[in-house]
Amino acid sequence: MYQNLIFDWSGTLVDDMGPTIEATNRVFSIYGKAALDRDEFRRLFRLPYSEFYEEHLPGVRLDELENHFRKAFAESQVPVTILPHAREKLDWCMEREIRCFVLTSMDTATFEQQLDELDMRRYFEATYSGAVDKRQVIGKLLDHHELDVKQTAFVGDMTHDVVTAKHGGVSSVALLTGYTHKEVLDSHDPDWLLDDLLAFRQLMEQHSSASS
Ligand SMILES: [Mg+2]
Repeated sequence: MYQNLIFDWSGTLVDDMGPTIEATNRVFSIYGKAALDRDEFRRLFRLPYSEFYEEHLPGVRLDELENHFRKAFAESQVPVTILPHAREKLDWCMEREIRCFVLTSMDTATFEQQLDELDMRRYFEATYSGAVDKRQVIGKLLDHHELDVKQTAFVGDMTHDVVTAKHGGVSSVALLTGYTHKEVLDSHDPDWLLDDLLAFRQLMEQHSSASS
């Protein structure tokens, strides 16, 4: 089925929604805006995050917001954890020599720290972090690693991930483990809309047994 998988990070492989909401609300409070609860955050937050902040805090410089956000995220006591079925999925890929990559908007220092703390670096051939607009990076990733678009999927939890997959000409796999509600993801017409990485592994197993 797919020989190459590009994974988003937050909401796809790791659960960092707790500290992300806390840090977003810290940024909002600095500029006198009311805090969002979890449901409001899931409805309103979107990528590229530059557009989200321009909508809610118009005119504030992005680097200023990023600095506040990173500081609050680093200070959060809510842990970042690997999502259920993520490690099993990556082990499964490794056994089958399916090439795995990460493409994330997360700032590089925070991402690299999580990669090591969660012992996940060994799963990936290469990682691309700090991509505010993933559409501007996916083409370079595909070219650099000579990935056949027909054998490649981008796996993510947000509409920007579906849009990025389509932009790159690869399959889009949307998961419900993260930041975006099902109806919203569905409206962007991903190739696959799945509950979690267990469902994705089962889908790939069915397809590989059907074709062998
Ligand atoms: Mg995500």
